[in-house]
Amino acid sequence: HHEKARQRICVLGATGSIGDSTFKVLNKHLESYEVFALSGHARLDKLIQLCAVYEPQYVCVPVAMAEQFSQNLKHQFPDARVPKVLEGEEGLEQIAAHPEVDIVMAAIVGAAGLAPTLAAVKAGKRVLLANKEALVMAGSLFMDCVRQSGATLLPVDSEHNAIFQCLPAEYFQSSESLHYNASRAGVSQILLTASGGPFRKFSLEQLELVTPEQASKHPNWVMGAKITVDSATLMNKGLELIEACHLFDLPPERVTVVIHPQSIIHSMVQYVDGSTLAQMGNPDMSTPIAHALAWPKRIDAGVAPLDLFLNASLNFEQPDELRFPCLRLAREAMEAGGTTPAVLNAANEIAVAAFLANKIKFTDISRIIQAVITQLPMIAAHDLATILHYDEAARKIARSILAEKVA
Ligand code: NAD
Ligand code: MG
Repeated sequence: HHEKARQRICVLGATGSIGDSTFKVLNKHLESYEVFALSGHARLDKLIQLCAVYEPQYVCVPVAMAEQFSQNLKHQFPDARVPKVLEGEEGLEQIAAHPEVDIVMAAIVGAAGLAPTLAAVKAGKRVLLANKEALVMAGSLFMDCVRQSGATLLPVDSEHNAIFQCLPAEYFQSSESLHYNASRAGVSQILLTASGGPFRKFSLEQLELVTPEQASKHPNWVMGAKITVDSATLMNKGLELIEACHLFDLPPERVTVVIHPQSIIHSMVQYVDGSTLAQMGNPDMSTPIAHALAWPKRIDAGVAPLDLFLNASLNFEQPDELRFPCLRLAREAMEAGGTTPAVLNAANEIAVAAFLANKIKFTDISRIIQAVITQLPMIAAHDLATILHYDEAARKIARSILAEKVA
C-alpha cells in the first residue's frame, strides 16, 4: 500500500459561492488534494461545518470572532481534529504563504483579498485567481511579483480561464519567452464575452427603477451578492477587461467586449493568422476551477457536457455604454492607469453596498464612481502602500457623497 502525496490547498473565502464550487470539485478528487487551510469572514457556522468535514490544519477568521469561533468549534465537534485558529489579515497572509501549502484558491471578494493573494504570489504558490479585484487594484505590481517569484497564476474567472485554454501551453510556464505575454504568442485581439446581465434590454428609464431584488437574479450564473450586482451594471465586465489586460499583457483597445446572452462561449482569442479560438461549455464555475486545479491535466468537474442541440443558437451584440456606463468607466480607468483602477474598484464596492442596502438607485452606482474618480487624479502606483492609500481615500469620498445624498 503506497499513497502518493496529495497537493495541499488553502481556500481563501471558503464560505462563498466560489468556495462552494471548489469543494464540489475537490470532493471528487480527495485522493489528489488535501484541504490544508480555510478562511471565512461571515457565515462562520458554515466554516465550522467545513472544518468538521475537511479537518484542515489551519482556519482563519476575523479578529473579533476568533475566540467565539474556537469555542463553537470544540463544542460542536468534540471528536474532530481541531485546526489552529488564526485571525485577521495577518492570519490570511500566513495561511496563503504557508510553506506547506502548494495551491491557493483566492476566492475572497473585493479589496480584502489583495494582500493575502499577493502573499501567495510572493511565496511562489500555484495561485487559482477568482478574486479579480486584486488584479484590478494592483495589476502591474501583481504581475511583476508573478514574474519575479515564479508563482503560477491560473485564472478561475470563467472568461479568463477560457482565454487561457485558447493560448499555447507555454504561456503560463516561466521558462518560456511567451510567459504572460499574449502578443508574443501571436494574439491580435481578445473577445471577452458577457451575458449582458438581467437588464440587457432595459431602457435608461427602466434602469432608474431597478431594485436590489431584481439585480440579485442573474440569468445564467448563481454567484455572491457583489459580483451579481456588478454583472447587472456591467462593471463585472469592466473589471474583467482590466483583469484581461494584466493577465495577457494587452492594451485595452485589444480587448473587445461581446454581449453573448447564452453564456456558452466563455471568451475567444483571435490570432494574427485570422484564427479565432473559443472555449465553450455549460455555465458552471466547476469547469474553470477543475481546469485550474489540475492544469496541465484534465479532471472530472461533474459538469454535464454541452449539448448543442439544446443550445441551438448563439447570439452576439455590441454592448451599450450609454445604458451601462460602468463599462466605459472601467476602460477609461485602465487607459488612465496608475491608481485609477483601484479608485474605480473602491468606489464601486461602496456604491454597490449602498445599492444593496436600498440607500441609492441602481443608476447612482456609476454616477458615484464617476464623481470619485474625478476627485482623485491619477498618480503612479509603484507600491502597495500607495494603492491601499488611494483605495481608502476613494472609499472616504464615496461615503461622503452617499451621506450628502441620503441627508
Ligand atoms: P461570495 O460573497 O459568495 O464569497 C466571498 C468570500 O469572501 C466569503 O468566504 C466571505 O466570507 C469572504 N470575505 C468577504 N469579505 C471579506 C473580508 N473583508 N475579509 C476576508 N474575507 C472576506 O463571493 P463569490 O461569488 O464567491 O466571489 C468571490 C470572488 O470570485 C470575487 O472576487 C468574484 O468577483 C470572483 N468570481 C466569482 C464568480 C462566481 O461565480 N461566484 C465567478 C467569477 C469570479
Ligand atoms: Mg467572469
